[in-house]
Amino acid sequence: MIADTLRDRIRSGGPISIAAFMTEALFDPRHGFYATKDPIGAGADFITAPEISQMFGELIGLVAAQTWLDMGRPDGFKLIEMGPGRGTMMSDALRAARTVPGFMDATEIVLIEASAALKAVQAQTLGPSGAQIRWIDRLDAVAPGPSFIVGNEFLDCLPVRQALRHKGEWHERLVGLAPTDKSAGKSAGESEFVFVLGPPLGQDADLVPARLQDADDGALVELRPGDRQVVDQLAERFSDQPGRALFIDYGPATSEIGDTLQAIRAHKKQPPLQEPGTADLTARVDFESLIQAGRSAGLTSHGPQTQGRWLTELGLEARAAVLSQSQPGKRSEIARQIWRLTDTEQMGELFKLVCLDSADLPPPPGFSAG
Ligand code: SAH
Repeated sequence: MIADTLRDRIRSGGPISIAAFMTEALFDPRHGFYATKDPIGAGADFITAPEISQMFGELIGLVAAQTWLDMGRPDGFKLIEMGPGRGTMMSDALRAARTVPGFMDATEIVLIEASAALKAVQAQTLGPSGAQIRWIDRLDAVAPGPSFIVGNEFLDCLPVRQALRHKGEWHERLVGLAPTDKSAGKSAGESEFVFVLGPPLGQDADLVPARLQDADDGALVELRPGDRQVVDQLAERFSDQPGRALFIDYGPATSEIGDTLQAIRAHKKQPPLQEPGTADLTARVDFESLIQAGRSAGLTSHGPQTQGRWLTELGLEARAAVLSQSQPGKRSEIARQIWRLTDTEQMGELFKLVCLDSADLPPPPGFSAG
């Protein structure tokens, strides 16, 4: 059990960072949330845009093909997906991109996936596509070449750290142990995970967004070292080869104060430190910091653009009209999919897109009214 492993670790070495807790809970190879099962879908733990509607992946596929055209139809083009989940988005994307003559012959598909269980699901989903697919563990291990990289709800599950302002200094917030409250019906001698104030961040205090540096005591800011790592890998890759990376995720357009760590199990929230390994742990993406990191690494950025506007600009309605015509029985289902993906109270506004490009690419489709 992950909880036992983490308890032992904290007992022997003291409190651990939230990033360490998340890594273990999500990716422990034997019991981790992603490592062991397929958590995505209506009957599972959470649902994502490509699982809501095939149109989402189709539009991603057309953007990938457009990027290939914009690059001058290079051979050895790589279509790379980070965190492909069930493989649904790639499957829909390939069906659409295939309609662009020459694209499939020029393209190699690469999936970057940490979970063995999900790799198996991806192989099954994508088998019928007939496409040659390669799984590679890390972006920096993918062979060089022009590329389009996409990640939907990938950045949100990268481990975060939390910084707490305490007596005029930034401290790391850690996970420790406290005796379980026996009145809550738990057995004596057990302990539960609690947040504790850790040591000052020292140099890492620079990771707190500049605008929030002087926040009042008690303020909490999330740091996303994983995003920076991804940005650095993109900058390295795009330094001598054309490339475009498109990330879709949930979070505010500007860096904010506040604890957004959340655990979702069977579509319901549970306390984030409860029963690690049984729930998806994510935190909101900080799009302002992501874009800033991209720019300082020399990338060209576009967005954040809201998912609703992006889909609308790309012609979601027109695609829906064609689908509804060929399947009249599904007309209301398709209308409902559009509503879920684009309505401001649904995914339309909270979910946003950021594009990080190498120099000299025309702007990506869908970002004009950003
Ligand atoms: N993109 C999919 C799945 C989102 S869930 C969809 O929209 O439905 C997050 C996905 O990222 C899962 O497939 C998870 O296993 C994968 N993942 C998370 N962190 C990863 C990492 N560091 N390296 C590779 N894959 C990772």
